[in-house]
Amino acid sequence: MVDSLLRGHTKYYRKKVGGERDFLRRLAAEHQSPDALYVGCSDSRVIPEMLTQSSPGDLFVIRNVANIVPTFENADASVGAALEYAVGHLKVPHIIVCGHYGCGGVKAAVDGLEHVHGMPSLHEWLTPTETTARVVRNTLPADASAEQIWRKAVEANVLEQLEHLATYAVVAKALENDEVELHGWVYDLFSLGLYIYDDETDRFALANDLLKPQE
Ligand SMILES: [Zn+2]
Repeated sequence: MVDSLLRGHTKYYRKKVGGERDFLRRLAAEHQSPDALYVGCSDSRVIPEMLTQSSPGDLFVIRNVANIVPTFENADASVGAALEYAVGHLKVPHIIVCGHYGCGGVKAAVDGLEHVHGMPSLHEWLTPTETTARVVRNTLPADASAEQIWRKAVEANVLEQLEHLATYAVVAKALENDEVELHGWVYDLFSLGLYIYDDETDRFALANDLLKPQE
């Protein structure tokens, strides 16, 4: 497995010696100035640069199980450090929290963390998401399918993390000064569609339907 990764790198290295070499060299010589801070899941199938067709330098990325931003009071230093650097120093104009349908972390929270054995850190990490999932279950009709609950919990989990962002002073200040915009996304592993949260309708709508045709 690791051999195939190294073979992959060799291929990458040789390829980059060609066309994109100058671009990457220029990028390395400059300060980074990403367009957005992206908070996504560690899931190996959800690759932010792939699903947004971004280039090196475009996204500052935080990935963890179930795309969680703990509240400042329950701060995870890793998430807090990246947030502070991206918003306070790099001045990213956008923060995107991107969940995904089919998220195993959210599924574990929906099913109940009593089923998670021998993984104490994961248990602790997902405990707030379990609370979110419980609220979702209680707001859906009693005959809602497990799939419906799971999908709704994925969406609610994204909205919860957007709320948490403002508990960090650096984000609260940037929001107050209109220097940053927050975005809630959900990527669909199955259809490959991207759903964007619209606070006017309080729904996630397919990105393709929202985009205006290019002139
Ligand atoms: Zn996930």
